Amino acid sequence: MPILQNDPHIATGVALKRLPLRKAAVLFIAVVCLCLCGLLYLQLEQSRRHDLAVAEVASSNLTRAMAQQAEDTFMKADLVLTSLVDWIQADGYGPPQRPRLQKTFAQRVQALSQLHGILLFDQKGQWIVTSFADLPRGRGVADREYFMYHQQNVSSVAHIGPAIRSRENGEWIIPVSKRINDKNGHFQGVLLAGIKMSYFDQFFKSFSLDDNGSMFLGLTDGTLLARRPFVEAQIGSSLANGEIFQTLLPNAPSGNATFRSVVDGTVRLYGYRQLDAYPLVVSAASSRDSILKGWYDTAFRSSVIVALVVLGIGLFGWVFVRQVRLGEQVEADLRKAKEALKLIATHDSLTGLANRRLFEQALDIEFGRGIRQSSSLSLIMLDIDYFKRYNDAYGHVAGDHCLAQVARAVKSCCHRKADLAVRYGGEEFAVLLPDTDIHGAMVIAEHIRRAVMAKNISHSGSPNGFVTVSLGCYSFVPTRLDSTEVFIGRADAALYQAKHSGRNRSAVLSIDGGVEELMRSDR
Ligand code: GH3
Ligand code: MG
Ligand code: MG
Repeated sequence: MPILQNDPHIATGVALKRLPLRKAAVLFIAVVCLCLCGLLYLQLEQSRRHDLAVAEVASSNLTRAMAQQAEDTFMKADLVLTSLVDWIQADGYGPPQRPRLQKTFAQRVQALSQLHGILLFDQKGQWIVTSFADLPRGRGVADREYFMYHQQNVSSVAHIGPAIRSRENGEWIIPVSKRINDKNGHFQGVLLAGIKMSYFDQFFKSFSLDDNGSMFLGLTDGTLLARRPFVEAQIGSSLANGEIFQTLLPNAPSGNATFRSVVDGTVRLYGYRQLDAYPLVVSAASSRDSILKGWYDTAFRSSVIVALVVLGIGLFGWVFVRQVRLGEQVEADLRKAKEALKLIATHDSLTGLANRRLFEQALDIEFGRGIRQSSSLSLIMLDIDYFKRYNDAYGHVAGDHCLAQVARAVKSCCHRKADLAVRYGGEEFAVLLPDTDIHGAMVIAEHIRRAVMAKNISHSGSPNGFVTVSLGCYSFVPTRLDSTEVFIGRADAALYQAKHSGRNRSAVLSIDGGVEELMRSDR
């Protein structure tokens, strides 16, 4: 296994700062999709509010029209009753007056289509005169709410009572009645105008209303007088506990509100209005679903379109991001291949140490640095002793294995980042030690020598019986006058000295007056 070096002497080039394209694309697509959804939401919310606002205006107009119609209807009946009561109180309703009264009653009923009939009762509730041709027979009306009301209330104001079924023909009517007094203000009877409920039904039907919509006319106490759709069982029932009478009317005489009906659970927009002149309330309601039907259709269509667009963008984004990822993968592979190539170009494949080319580059760099900083630069040249014999004895494959082991020993002694272990050629190695003086170089050389010995590689051809190395050290502070060739040559000369002095030793060459001196040897 080659020893790969993370070498500071290898030029890595300028690393360009890349945009995180994949993240940016995902973010951009997410933002676009969110914006689309947000815009859809805003647009739909706005159109929903608009539709509801339009419906509220329509509801207000409708209840105003209903209130107007109800007021007109009751006012006409009220006026008729008022003039007739004045007349009856002045002339009495004795037998001489009755034919004329009957004729007048019939004329008034004919003139006002909303009137079912006009009836006059004495103080015991018995029919005196009616607009009908024949007087009804029976027990009278003393038990009716309106009769008892006038019996007990001296007020001359018209009274509108709960809807009742006519005792003449069974038709549903809304009774409008007035008290008749004698000259002393004593109760003399009741004059009643029955307003046909069908009159309101027809009027209610003249408005277009959705299937779940409703309209009603009621008394301010919540008693239901007329309703669309007409449900007979509900006539006369009380709405007093409903939202309109409980919450809305006490706060404002007219308005709009949306709430869920307690009767059928449908959410409706209710418009209501209390009449000015009479204790009556009208209300019209449209179901929110029908108001928003058009909006639901638009919302569904818009949502489907936006969902398709978002899906399309999402798909496109997915494909795009995938392509980007593939591109990044290819780029990473290329980068790895480039790094591997660079490693192959600058390192020796057998030992994993730097090769001669990298050594020369590093030497140039460190030489320049040494000149600039006036710092010592050291070089150790190293050669395996009797290696030819090793090859001869064990073969080339074992020789290669031995070279790799020695390289490992050399590498293990280079601790600084800038130290560079090199396979200089064949079974020769070099160690470049920047910023290191001769003493430091000698220490490392000895470490290497001992590390190789410690490997204890058998070598029958060596006098020691195991593989040893000879090392030559040279150190100097380079100047502009020096050359790398001379530097290498001097380290090589020291190696030669070490070999010559008996091998398995470190030698240092000192240039001192041209004298080459062996500084140290060791066996
Ligand atoms: P010494 O250095 O002690 O003077 O003796 P030596 O036997 O080592 O002499 P020399 O340095 O001249 O020998 C070099 C030998 O190293 C020659 C060659 O067989 C061997 N050699 C060089 N490169 C390789 C290699 O890559 N693999 C193997 N197995 N052997 C190599
Ligand atoms: Mg050699
Ligand atoms: Mg040798």
